[in-house]
Amino acid sequence: MKDYLVKAYAFEGTVRIYAANTTNLVSHAQEIHDLWPTSAAALGRLLTGGVIMGAMYKKDDELTIRLDGDGSIGGMVVTTNAHGDVRGYVSNPHVFLQYNSGKLNVGQAVGNGQIHITKDLKVRDMFTSSSEIQTGEIAEDLAYYFTVSEQIPSAVGLGVLVNDDNSIIASGGFILQIMPGCKEETIQLIEERISQIKPVSQMIEEGLTPENIIAEITKGDHQFLEELPLKYTCNCSREKFEKGLISLGEEQLTEILQEDGQIETNCHFCNTKYHFNKEEIKSLIEETK
Ligand SMILES: [Zn+2]
Repeated sequence: MKDYLVKAYAFEGTVRIYAANTTNLVSHAQEIHDLWPTSAAALGRLLTGGVIMGAMYKKDDELTIRLDGDGSIGGMVVTTNAHGDVRGYVSNPHVFLQYNSGKLNVGQAVGNGQIHITKDLKVRDMFTSSSEIQTGEIAEDLAYYFTVSEQIPSAVGLGVLVNDDNSIIASGGFILQIMPGCKEETIQLIEERISQIKPVSQMIEEGLTPENIIAEITKGDHQFLEELPLKYTCNCSREKFEKGLISLGEEQLTEILQEDGQIETNCHFCNTKYHFNKEEIKSLIEETK
C-alpha cells in the first residue's frame, strides 16, 4: 500500500480527523539512518505525527518539530509541509530499548524535556511554541501540545512495528481534533471508541487503510475531504552547503584549506555527502570576498 493520508470531518462537522499510512516513508528513514528498533519507532512516530500536522497548514508553510529529551536517543528533528513531504533525523539512531513485555520503550529512550514546534509561514517571522514532553511516547506529547499550546483538544494515535532485523513492518497514525460546538456526549463517545480500537500499527499491519481507521472511530459518521500522498523528501543541494561554507568566512575556510585540504559535509536528513576539494575550497574563499 502506498503512503497517504486522508482528511475527514465527523460527527456533523464538529470533529476533524486525519489518518495516515506511513510504512514506506518510515522504512526509507530506517534505511538511510540505519535505525535500530527503538530509534526507528521514535523517529517513525514523530515523522508520522509531523506529516499529519503538516497537512493542517497551507501552501508553502513549513513546520519543524524538535524533541529535546534527556533519554538515550538524544534529540529528534522532523521538518514537513502541507504537500505531504517529510524528513527527519535522530541524534542516536542505535537505540534498542524494550519494556519487559518486549514492547519498544520509546518513552524512556526519549526521556524528559521539551517539544518545540516552529512554523515558518514564509513571511518575515517564524513562530515557535513549546510544551513539556509528557510520556516521551510521542502521541501523548503531541496531544498535550495541541491542547496546551493551540487550545485544540486532540487525540493522537501513532504506531510503528519493527522487525528483529530493524525493517519496518507497519507504520501509521491518526490525529483527531475537537472543534467548537462539539457535544459533550460526542466527546465521551469518541473517548470510548478510541480506548477500544486496536493499536494503529496493528491496524495497518492487518491491511486497514487510513479510511478504514477513521471508520473504526466514527462507525461511518464521517465525510472524507481529501487525500494526500506522503513521501520522505530532502531538499538539500550542493548549492545550499556551499552557501553554508561561504558563511564560515575567509579566515576559517583558509584554515581548513591549510589543515585538511578538503571538506566533507553530510546532510543530517538524507545522509547525502558533499565533498569539496582544494580547488573548490579556494573558489569558496574567493566568494567570501
Ligand atoms: Zn539532504
